[in-house]
Amino acid sequence: MSFTLVIHGGAGNVIPAILNPDLELQYTQALKDALDSGTEVLKKGGSSVDAVVAAISTMEDNPLFNAGKGSVFTKKGLNEMDAAIMNGRNLAAGAIAGVRNIRNPIQLAREVMLHSGHVLLSGSGAAEFAINQGLTMTPDEYFFNQLRYDQWVEIRDTNFTQLDHKGDNLKSHTPDHKFGTVGAVALDSEGNLAAGTSTGGMTNKRFGRIGDSPIVGAGTYANNSTCAISCTGHGEFFLRAVVAHDVSCLMEYKGLTLHEACNVVVKDKLVKMGGEGGLIAVDTKGNFEFCFNSAGMYRGMRNSEGKEAVAFYGQ
Ligand code: ASP
Repeated sequence: MSFTLVIHGGAGNVIPAILNPDLELQYTQALKDALDSGTEVLKKGGSSVDAVVAAISTMEDNPLFNAGKGSVFTKKGLNEMDAAIMNGRNLAAGAIAGVRNIRNPIQLAREVMLHSGHVLLSGSGAAEFAINQGLTMTPDEYFFNQLRYDQWVEIRDTNFTQLDHKGDNLKSHTPDHKFGTVGAVALDSEGNLAAGTSTGGMTNKRFGRIGDSPIVGAGTYANNSTCAISCTGHGEFFLRAVVAHDVSCLMEYKGLTLHEACNVVVKDKLVKMGGEGGLIAVDTKGNFEFCFNSAGMYRGMRNSEGKEAVAFYGQ
């Protein structure tokens, strides 16, 4: 079985000074657990879509990451989550935005892709669909995390989202702990690509704010003729730069390699806009990329040739 799985657990100010040895061990284990879940599927000849869902679900269940259980708090002190999945074989996609009380948002995104007849459901409509599909609603307490709560309390009286929208050249003003989204991209033994992303968004975000993660082409994209991409970073910039689709377009229309295309978008275009973050990518040959313009990005990969990597800090 030939396969490649690449994952991320968010980009941002990931530097040795904010991670003590114990936390480093915890993140290493968490990333390995997600790689285990995803490669378990791929080893048995399962699909890239199912591998992406498995890897992301494991990270959603781990409060270290800003997705599912560890989601950040909104301005109103709630947890509102976004997620998307895309199948590179047929360009099918499913996404949910602004949902609450869903334990594994990536699983609901897959339900949307497979059974809703739509691509993106939001808020109470997404919740109603979840109940119809037999997913159980999870109480607010499950999502409570003291660290995330304290981070929110520290900044809840600030207005950083307004600052962020003042002008095109403005740099990211949000605090360092804003990221932590999770994502996975995979190539399966049939040669099919898939990408998925799941997030609690940004700490102190406005009620109803939706980032790039659930938007096909911005934070998540997969196409067997090019690549599969999952992004993490300051969503307002990734939305306007249509990051994931731009990487795919540079490969499709300009013939760039995966490495070249990722670098143009993340290290040139996004930097000029002031957008901090990064992405993971894989193509149909099993080439993969970790590309970021932030200090670091929680990341990992494993393939059928026995190659494995887990890292946090800048290269
Ligand atoms: N991109 C996500 C958002 O803006 C945040 C992140 O990647 O951590 O919602």
